[in-house]
Amino acid sequence: MKPKVLITRKIAEPIIEKIQEYADVDVWDQEDVQIPRDILENKISEIDGLFCLITESIDASLIDKAPNLKVISNMAVGYNNIDVDTATKKGIMVTNTPEVLTETTADLTFALLMATARRLVEASDFLRDGKWETWSPNLLTGQDIYGATIGIIGMGRIGEAVARRTKGFNMNLLYHNRSRKPDVEQELGTTYVSMETLLSESDFVVVITPYTAETKNLITAEQLKLMKKNAILINTARGGIVNEADLYEALVNGVIWGAGLDVFEKEPVPADHPLLTLPNVVTLPHIGSASIATRMKMAELAAENLILALKGEKPKHLVNKIDFS
Ligand code: NAP
Repeated sequence: MKPKVLITRKIAEPIIEKIQEYADVDVWDQEDVQIPRDILENKISEIDGLFCLITESIDASLIDKAPNLKVISNMAVGYNNIDVDTATKKGIMVTNTPEVLTETTADLTFALLMATARRLVEASDFLRDGKWETWSPNLLTGQDIYGATIGIIGMGRIGEAVARRTKGFNMNLLYHNRSRKPDVEQELGTTYVSMETLLSESDFVVVITPYTAETKNLITAEQLKLMKKNAILINTARGGIVNEADLYEALVNGVIWGAGLDVFEKEPVPADHPLLTLPNVVTLPHIGSASIATRMKMAELAAENLILALKGEKPKHLVNKIDFS
């Protein structure tokens, strides 16, 4: 008998067909609607493999309802939506999709940095709203990127890819990471500094760490007040890493100059969220990895991980820190 798999969102048909070669597949086939929790709870009791997105909270109470589950394959590199400890205790493999999205997410991070520094969204709205009357010396002036100092918090795969992009802009590159990366320092000419030094010396601070107990509220009022008044904060990691109430206060009171946010504590971010009312914030709906080609690669890799796990082989990207063999 084939194992049973649930895919929690409509994905490309050829990928579903590939999974169907090994499993009986049930797809929540609404493209832009999240699978309701009660339906997920119901279906998880019968499946061997779960193909899910970051929108699903795979917590202990859900895992407890899944006696047959062998693998949770997340179509994302971040896996803070999954209780990995509980899964590991129950012998369930958790997999993710690193690498294939690195360059695309770095592109978006740099695009967001540039859009925030040069007020692109505000400028576009200004023009479309019919407010453009004349060229003016101080109209929509922003911050320079070329030659500025950038500080990257989280020098991992995406952090490094962002760092490489700064070279074309002749930027002075600082980084802070959990562990030092001497090879990256040598290759990219970057300097390891303390969090405090990075915050106080950077014109641009880019946050790109995973969301963990350690990185929750990594940036609060205390860190924001160390930043320069003309500095810009970019967060393409996860919402909870930057305290949103503190960021709002800092942006309103001129503690920092601007922010670019792809991620929020609660997603989708409510339309009346205070941060969405500020002109000096560029906000995006979590589209870091959203290129057509990359989303396809992520789905393919998630399917590959799922199939390998169901066959009893080692998936390409196993998150749990144990040996399942
Ligand atoms: P990665 O290669 O694992 O890199 C993460 C880096 O963060 C590592 O260098 C790690 O240091 C560092 N780090 C961890 N905890 C830290 C802390 N407390 N202080 C300072 N540095 C810390 O992961 P990645 O592939 O670059 O992805 C990073 C994150 O980006 C993902 O986890 C995900 O949440 C987010 N992301 C968002 C989008 C989006 O759509 N906006 C897309 C892709 C990814 P060590 O090397 O010492 O462990």
